Amino acid sequence: MAEFSMDLNEDQQQIQKWVHDFAETVIRPVAHEWDEREETPWPVIEEAAKVGLYSFDFVSQAFFDESGLMMAIAAEELAWGDAGIALAILGSTLGLAGIASNGTPEQLIEWGPQCFGTPEKIQVAAFAVSEPDAGSDVSSLRTRAVYDEAKDEWVLNGTKTWITNGGIADVHVVVASVDPELGSRGQASFIVPPGTPGLSQGQKFKKMGIRASHTAEVVLDDVRVPGSLLLGGKEKLDEKLARAREGKRSAGQAAMKTFEASRPAVGAQALGIARAAYEYALDYAKERKAFGRAIIENQAIAFKLADMKTRIDASRLLVWRASWMARNGKEFTAGEGSMSKLYAGETAVHVTEEAIQIMGGYGYIREHPVERWHRDSKIFTIFEGTSEIQRLVIARAISGMHIQ
Ligand SMILES: Cc1cc2nc3c(=O)[nH]c(=O)nc-3n(C[C@H](O)[C@H](O)[C@H](O)COP(=O)(O)OP(=O)(O)OC[C@H]3O[C@@H](n4cnc5c(N)ncnc54)[C@H](O)[C@@H]3O)c2cc1C
Repeated sequence: MAEFSMDLNEDQQQIQKWVHDFAETVIRPVAHEWDEREETPWPVIEEAAKVGLYSFDFVSQAFFDESGLMMAIAAEELAWGDAGIALAILGSTLGLAGIASNGTPEQLIEWGPQCFGTPEKIQVAAFAVSEPDAGSDVSSLRTRAVYDEAKDEWVLNGTKTWITNGGIADVHVVVASVDPELGSRGQASFIVPPGTPGLSQGQKFKKMGIRASHTAEVVLDDVRVPGSLLLGGKEKLDEKLARAREGKRSAGQAAMKTFEASRPAVGAQALGIARAAYEYALDYAKERKAFGRAIIENQAIAFKLADMKTRIDASRLLVWRASWMARNGKEFTAGEGSMSKLYAGETAVHVTEEAIQIMGGYGYIREHPVERWHRDSKIFTIFEGTSEIQRLVIARAISGMHIQ
């Protein structure tokens, strides 16, 4: 076992610098523009694909990093550049995570690269769980998957909502109920390939923040996919359903397994926004004069910055711990994945608000990026499980009781 160290190794430092440079030179200069346009920033994704940052290879390399930190490091830097554009780049990784956590190795090899395409032909992926009446409560999904044995095909019907890359994705990973009576234990995930008839985009949402990331409804109307696109395969699903019917616990629920794996990387994005706002406010507080002195010379301002930095560093430690645990097969016995996302998400909201306060009126107008960072930060207490749901996961884990 390696000696304990908080230093990043050479590979990690290189990746950190590489992604930071991309965020600084390619993302930051156009962040305001894409926030105003509220559209997917295809030219930026293309640029990221050209340098290899938007690719199945990069995500695989990050995954194989033994410390588990690589993806968290990259996500922090991208979101430091801009959270909406970062999500436009990282959104496909959620679809990939859906395949990696529930699929067979063969399915991953076939479909993983298709979540990204090539620099010449960019593809994107989506992970579709949420529905109009089932957000936090994923056990009550109404989207149905029915098996047509004669044709060895699955037929999907339902409506998904708030789906990142929904409708514009080439690869949609859809979670649907096979046996509604079993709640989340009766669900399975399916790959819906590019151009499949019956899948269409519903409403595209106008949002408060992360506006460069596309969020929309996905309508599934008699969507037929071959039996081979059930993630994990039919035999495994039948076993899982049989165990659930006997009242036994199964290895995991389709959506939950994906969220557990991706929460630290989501926390890392929140961390990136918080760091951006802190750095900006620190510089500003040193420059801005009031009553004949720099505003940072007032404890009221300096202590805010001290608290902001402390919370950011604490968030990073939680994110890195959870990332390391997930990669090294350590079970989250106290909801450590949820802790990282909970704390980093709430820190981002707090720090960006404090940054606005430090900048006074200049913080409130669009000439400076902090108002955007504040709008962007708020999603991190909502998606991938709200802050309340993260607390529920932690409370259940530490108490062993079914807290409601
Ligand atoms: C921009 C954006 C992108 C998204 N991307 C995706 C995506 O790619 N794929 C996807 O599947 N989904 C996605 N979502 C959906 C997101 O995950 C859900 O919005 C989220 O899980 C919350 O669900 P809800 O909105 O239905 O809120 P609800 O579940 O209705 O919750 C409403 C409020 O009640 C609280 N609450 C609910 N249950 C409890 C409880 N038991 N105890 C205490 N409080 C509770 C919640 O914390 C919240 O404050 C996205 C959402 C947004 C806004």
